[in-house]
Amino acid sequence: MIDSHAHLDEILCDTIGEVDKVILASSDFESAHKNTILAQKYDFLYPAIGIHPQSPTDGVDELEALIEKNIVAIGECGLDYSDENYDKETQIVVFRKQIELAQKYKLPLIIHARKAVDETIEVLKEYKNITGVFHCYAGGVKRIKKVIDLNFYFGIDGNLTYEDGLVSVVKNIPKERLVLETDCPYLTPIPFRGKANKPAYIKYIYKKVAEIWENSFEETEKIIDRNAKRLFKI
Ligand SMILES: [Zn+2]
Repeated sequence: MIDSHAHLDEILCDTIGEVDKVILASSDFESAHKNTILAQKYDFLYPAIGIHPQSPTDGVDELEALIEKNIVAIGECGLDYSDENYDKETQIVVFRKQIELAQKYKLPLIIHARKAVDETIEVLKEYKNITGVFHCYAGGVKRIKKVIDLNFYFGIDGNLTYEDGLVSVVKNIPKERLVLETDCPYLTPIPFRGKANKPAYIKYIYKKVAEIWENSFEETEKIIDRNAKRLFKI
């Protein structure tokens, strides 16, 4: 199993259970820097570097200096319009800088799009030769085709175990475009909902997908992990 989006610190590194690989998502320059260091210590960790749209923007121009061989993605980055007080123009500027970085280094993007899926797609459409994943995909069934046309993947989280609407979303996503993620410490799946999330709990999301696909756990795992390996080149 591969957890394609986790926020981990040193303590949480022993909570991966049967998970083979974990992609470390960054939310600001400091976490990006920490992720690169942590990944040097544990070979099952693969760092992404990026500035989340809700985070302070400092460091966006310094991200490039962190790019070394072990970086597997740029993110999480994107647009978040969930609060009307957010500075949309700055978000777009910071997002574009990160798309350009991904393009330049041929790295996939980990996209955070909240209440701004259409706007995010519009920005991404302007760029050629990019790929990535809509982390915690929230575009519903109706935007699936647009995301496919962009050459992006869909990241699905533990809320699949308790949000019925997501079941039809998963049914409509092509099998070869789905990756799974805990987004730990957030979005804990059933049966641990309410507690802090950790990579080991990703098996409950794999189980749920296997059920939806009416497939065995092993076959489901094979397909999902192949997708994550293809996307992140790991
Ligand atoms: Zn995240």
